[in-house]
Amino acid sequence: MTGFTTCILHNDRQQLIEHYSLHKPVHTSVTYGYKDAQELLDVFQNKKSGYRYGRQSNPTVTALEDKLTKMEDGVASLCFSSGMAAVGALPLAFLKAGDHVISSVFLFGNTRNLWQTTIDLGVKVSYVDATDVKNVQAALLPTTRMVFVETIANPRTQIADLEKIGELCKARGILFVVDNTMTSPYLFRPKAVGAGLVINSLTKVISGHGHVLGGSITDTGVFNWANFPNITANVQNQPMWQRGVNQLRAKSLRDFGACLSPDAAHQIAIGAETMALRIERQCSNTIRLVEMLDADPGVSAVYYPGLKNHPQHALATQLFAAYGSIFSFELKTGNNCVNFLNRLNIAISATHLGDNRTLIIPVAQTIFFEMGAERRGEMGISDSLIRVSVGIEDPSDLLKDFQQALAD
Ligand SMILES: *Cc1c(COP(=O)(O)O)cnc(C)c1O
Repeated sequence: MTGFTTCILHNDRQQLIEHYSLHKPVHTSVTYGYKDAQELLDVFQNKKSGYRYGRQSNPTVTALEDKLTKMEDGVASLCFSSGMAAVGALPLAFLKAGDHVISSVFLFGNTRNLWQTTIDLGVKVSYVDATDVKNVQAALLPTTRMVFVETIANPRTQIADLEKIGELCKARGILFVVDNTMTSPYLFRPKAVGAGLVINSLTKVISGHGHVLGGSITDTGVFNWANFPNITANVQNQPMWQRGVNQLRAKSLRDFGACLSPDAAHQIAIGAETMALRIERQCSNTIRLVEMLDADPGVSAVYYPGLKNHPQHALATQLFAAYGSIFSFELKTGNNCVNFLNRLNIAISATHLGDNRTLIIPVAQTIFFEMGAERRGEMGISDSLIRVSVGIEDPSDLLKDFQQALAD
């Protein structure tokens, strides 16, 4: 088994590609012809593998899925038109009215809204402080089908009690789903803590360039689908490693159309080639920036798992290869941060995470504005919280930029 980056760089050419091309070409065809009519029937009846129609699968997308499976050390992956399409595929494919989900309360805001829609459709969702497995255990019901957590929560960087929740889910036969976007498979593989499914937003650090949206779900091979009640009968007859992704493919790609375009898959694959290098630079930039801010008298709080005073610092050190490139902080001047943001010349006032450029945003007034003060309170988001997604700029430029903005 080769290392992370070697594997990504050399994966396409493991299959013979026309002209010995090193990259999987962008296959734009929506439909496929066959040698003869019998082959068409065989492909549609799953007697033979092959492509049918672009909404269900595409060779360029398959090449990316194959890389994602290797990155996550899983058995199969499926791509979606965005990270949210991947999260939204979960209730579509795996839940029915009356089922119960336990979700971390520290959530990507849009995922929280999606769970609300799911509740409106008859699923019960319990939000718990997932930094302690006891809260997950206390919320269990006989109808609990799924536990959903993010690795490091955005923006306050709380870390779920990943190992213990994984053990609990294993003991109860419950599907454990981990959104790995904030860590990426380079820093952490949720399979190691017993996750059955792993979500990644491909829009973020896996691409890095911010040109396309994409999302994925990887089946780690850990979960036993045989006992899961909501898998359709024809999928339950398939080999175990295909059941999760084929249930997702039927419900959310074939029936719902949330498919990734081949052009987007190609651009994501290009970005993924350099992700390890970019993440290393982002993480080292982040530590330097965090240390500087933490020591600054104008800064009242810094939230980053790499800091010794972070409540889950020990867990992060144990589980993750590094502490990531997202942190948040508060200025002593409180929620009047507009002038500070305007003084920055390199860090851009913008949403988004894992980009090559450093992005900064006050969260209560923007991405978490719509949900209101009460829910923000539950998630630990104060009005003065500012989130930073650290890019790959030269570290001295970044430090100087923040220094001069703080000094003014
Ligand atoms: C951004 C993000 C998503 C959604 O991804 P998109 O590609 O923007 O749809 C889901 N989960 C987390 C943790 C994210 O940061």
